[in-house]
Parts: sequence; C-alpha cells; structure tokens
Amino acid sequence: MNRSVKEVYDVLIVGSGAAGLHAALSLDAGFSVLVLSKDAADVCNSAYAQGGVAAVLNPQEDNEELHFQDTMIAGGHRNDPAAVRVLVHEGPASVLELRELGVAFDTGRDGALDLTLEGGHSRRRIAHHEDQTGAEIVRGLLAALAGRPNISLAADTVLTRLEKDAGGFHALIEQGGAFATVNARFCILATGGIGRVFRYTTNSPVATGDGIVFAEKLGARIKGMNLVQFHPTALARGPEERFLISESVRGEGAKLLNSRGERFMQRYDGRGELAPRDVVSRCIMEEARRTGSNEFYLDITAEPADFVRGRFPAIYRKCMEYGIDMTKDRIPVYPCQHYLMGGIDVDLNARTTVDGLYAVGECSHTGVHGANRLASNSLLEALVFSRRAAADILAAGHAPAEVRPLTPAQGKPAPVELRETIQGMVQESFFVTANLEKARENLPRVEAIARQMEDGYADSRGLTELRSLAGVAALILKEVLSA
Ligand SMILES: Cc1cc2nc3c(=O)[nH]c(=O)nc-3n(C[C@H](O)[C@H](O)[C@H](O)COP(=O)(O)OP(=O)(O)OC[C@H]3O[C@@H](n4cnc5c(N)ncnc54)[C@H](O)[C@@H]3O)c2cc1C
Repeated sequence: MNRSVKEVYDVLIVGSGAAGLHAALSLDAGFSVLVLSKDAADVCNSAYAQGGVAAVLNPQEDNEELHFQDTMIAGGHRNDPAAVRVLVHEGPASVLELRELGVAFDTGRDGALDLTLEGGHSRRRIAHHEDQTGAEIVRGLLAALAGRPNISLAADTVLTRLEKDAGGFHALIEQGGAFATVNARFCILATGGIGRVFRYTTNSPVATGDGIVFAEKLGARIKGMNLVQFHPTALARGPEERFLISESVRGEGAKLLNSRGERFMQRYDGRGELAPRDVVSRCIMEEARRTGSNEFYLDITAEPADFVRGRFPAIYRKCMEYGIDMTKDRIPVYPCQHYLMGGIDVDLNARTTVDGLYAVGECSHTGVHGANRLASNSLLEALVFSRRAAADILAAGHAPAEVRPLTPAQGKPAPVELRETIQGMVQESFFVTANLEKARENLPRVEAIARQMEDGYADSRGLTELRSLAGVAALILKEVLSA
C-alpha cells in the first residue's frame, strides 16, 4: 500500500473525475482529504467528454431563464426545478473558476470564449477545448490538486467495502493486492456512471456503478435507475466501447441520414438534427423499423475541410483509424448507452439520505436532468454540486473518525466471466426502449448473480465490479418494470 495513505482523514472522496477532483479542491486546506481512483487518475468518463460544459457565459445573447427552459424541455419537465435553478445560476461561476484554475477553454480572436451549440440548446453556450474538453478539465484539476498538500490522491486503488457506524465511515481499499482500512467522518461518492452494465456503451472502463451499490447497501435512497440516456450518434465501428461522435458535430452543421442517404429527422420533429438526444435516438429506431435497415450516417462534408479538422481533431483522428475521412465521407453512427440520469438521490447540497454521505457527479440523482440530460449539463452538474457538497462539509466542521479495521474476505477468485452474462441480459431488456418480457425474464437472473457474489469470494476489484454490475442491473430492471 502506498505509504502516503493514512488511517484517518476528514473526508474520503471516491472518484477522481470532474466531480471528485472539484469536490476535493473546494474543501478548505484545513481538511485532510483522500481521493481514490480505481484506475489511473485520468481514466474516467470526465476525461472522455468531448463537447464541453454548458453555462450562460454570453449574457448579451443568453440568460439563465433560457438555460433553465432548455434543460426542462430536454428533461421532459421531469426535472426538479429547484435543482435546475441552482445549476443554471451557479454554472457560469463554476466554468470561470475552472478557467482561473488553468483549464484552457477555446477562445476567439477577441479573447472571448468560443461558445458552441449542441442539441436542445437555444443559444450558443457550450465552453469547450477543441473536442477534448473533459481531458483538459481533468488535466487542469489534477494540476491544481498537486499544489494542495491537504489532499492525497491514491490511484489504482479500489474501494472494495464501505461501512458506517457512529464513529464514521470505514473503507476497505485495495492497491496492487494489498489491503488497508481508511476511516473518515465524511464520505463523498463520485464514482461516475454505469455504462459497463450494457454491452455497447460510450463509457470508460471504470463506469460500473460501484458507488450506487455501496450507497444502496448503506441504506441510501436510489432513484430513477431506468432514466438511462442513449446517445444517438456513437461511431458504429470498432469494439463494444463505442466512440462518441459529439453532438457538436451536428451543432456545427452535420446532417443525419438514413441508409438511403435521406435526411429524416424533420419528418419526426421540427427541431431536426438538433432535437434532444432521447428524441433523436427514438427517431433513429423508428426510422430503422421503417426502412428495415440499421445503417445511419452523419454527414458534415458540406463544411470546409480545414474547419472540420481543426474543430474536431480527436473525432477526425478516430474516424481515420477506420478509414473514414469525415471531411469527405459520411460517418456511420448508431445509438448507444451513454449516461445515467438517475442514481443516489441527493438534496441541493448533495447530501444522500445517509448522514455524512454525499454523492456528486454522474452517480448522483440531483434531479437536474429529468428524463433526459441536456447536452453538456453533466460536467456542469458535477462542478456545481461538488462545490455545494464541500461547502456543506465545511459548515459541519471537523470531527475525527474512529479507527475500525476491516478484514478482507478470503475465498475463490471472482467469476469475472459473469460480466458478459449480465451485460447481455441488460442490453436485451433495455435499449432505447424497454423490452418488458425480457426484463421480467432477466430480473430474477441478475438478482441471483448479485446474491451469489455476497459470499465465498475473495475481495478484489473484480469482485467489487461484479457485485456492482449485478446490483445496478437489478436496480435498472426493477425500475423498468415498475415504470
Ligand atoms: C464519451 C463521453 C462524452 C461525454 N461528453 C460530455 C460533454 O461533452 N459534456 C458533458 O457535460 N458531459 C459529457 N459526458 C458525460 C460526463 O463526462 C460525465 O457524466 C461526467 O464527467 C461524470 O463525472 P464524474 O466525476 O461523476 O465521473 P467519472 O469522471 O467517470 O469519474 C469516476 C471516478 O470514480 C472512480 N471510481 C469508481 N468506482 C471506484 C471504486 N470502487 N474505487 C475507487 N474509485 C472508483 C473512477 O476510478 C473515476 O476516477 C460524456 C461522457 C462520455 C462517456
């Protein structure tokens, strides 16, 4: 175990994506903080974010009310209006704070932020760094963290067990086969999404929903697990982790075509290609049924080649790996699991229903996204609510945790091959729309796997992730069936 990991901290933060890092940086220098990352510190969904972060940054042409309305419309008015008000009101300061920390957002010749447009936004309000905004944000936050002696970062260190008693939180962590217990009065879960429970996802390998299952076991309320966003335009080539063709490609003029080379979105929705994601994904499935073909394309060849290469360098490079030159060729696309709107239910200060336990970022359910997240509101949510969690902890003040060592379970190695079984069951039960018959058939099966994982296996990252995948699958299928 890394010698710098101590026994007791004020705050344990599980996750080094935008939410976890920003929470750590928002805490006072007087608070000792441990940030865990189960992989390298920059392997996370945050680092994958391409499009950018949405906020009202050009008040001459935009305002909070418009951002509020766009968010509510995209979310089908199933959002929590109070949470959306907080998001849009505190959003601009959060983005500007990132800039001050050294995150390089693209600017125009006049030095003003270059704001782009994405589906569902009525104004240009997306701050970005080329098409690699998330990687730049994570880079900037990690650089800022390095200058903060009160914060320790333990990479390649997985939380395998989390318990709570009157003395605080006790966390069993594993690093390279060695185990240790960390104790903290406060715990912030920032463990990200659940994409890996689906066969096809845009999510990073860490997105197995660990925090949601840890929180559920501690008795926290979990909400909206059927609120899964399927992005309409993942690259329809390559491995099961699908590369995303950002919404901003449509924002900059790309047309969506069916297998016959026809535009079709206008027939379904007046907003055309820039309708919210859930609408576009459903339209693609409908159009696939109508034409009898799953082939769909994004076409941005009408835009100048230099502009396309300069604006979307990472997407251009990725497409070229498959022999697709997006300045001349259509890009094959298809919907894919992308984001979870539900998760650990929290209040406006990111507090869960368990005392001292907070959840921020994609693992949380703040209510801001409703039934469908508006593009680029997710990084914003991670920033705004992680700062609120930190402020709430600062207000509560210091209270040292008691030390209670946890013993790792011994037993067989985790049957990691069950991952694919779980992914297959979830994929066939729920993809853009639910297949209720399959969901009914598969729910008892994933519940049986979840029970099987409780006993007889040795604690490890593999076991933790298997438990999480089975637990998340059960939560999703239950909500799909009761919706
Ligand atoms: C391809 C792609 C493009 C996207 N584009 C955008 C965009 O343009 N704009 C936008 O707003 N949003 C975008 N999103 C969504 C957004 O990136 C994520 O929702 C957001 O970054 C999630 O941040 P997070 O900090 O909650 O989680 P993550 O960034 O995923 O971080 C999770 C962290 O938790 C750690 N962790 C998990 N389990 C454990 C454990 N058991 N022990 C220890 N550590 C653990 C991981 O190691 C990781 O450090 C995109 C997502 C994807 C996948």
